[in-house]
Amino acid sequence: MSRKEEYMSNTRWADKADLFYYPPCDVPAWYPLIDEMIELIEEWNDHEEQKMRFFQIKEKFGTLVAYIQPTGDGVIDAPRHLQDAINKIANEGHKICRVCGERKVETVVESRLQWRCLDHWDNESRWRVREC
Ligand SMILES: [Zn+2]
Repeated sequence: MSRKEEYMSNTRWADKADLFYYPPCDVPAWYPLIDEMIELIEEWNDHEEQKMRFFQIKEKFGTLVAYIQPTGDGVIDAPRHLQDAINKIANEGHKICRVCGERKVETVVESRLQWRCLDHWDNESRWRVREC
């Protein structure tokens, strides 16, 4: 068993390892978004010749980012509109508190608009430690 397979078998995506090049960032608060993205890719793969998978789903500066790629050795890129649809879902990540999974509230901090969880306002930076 490869390291990836071993890791994946202990995640909620155990039966979907083929959909990932790198195992996805395991943040429970983001499971609904990741599930939504998986649905989109599975739907695509059901209908299209060129199958897609996730190259990476990870956290970047507190936001969720996901990159898709064609499976196999194809030289073509993932279709722009599909990556755009994935991005749209991933962009919801920064509106969800990583600590409790609740939706954050849009607040004005130092005259800048920010999304904050009212319960975990101060803790947020500490949780960045978990970044993967
Ligand atoms: Zn919270």
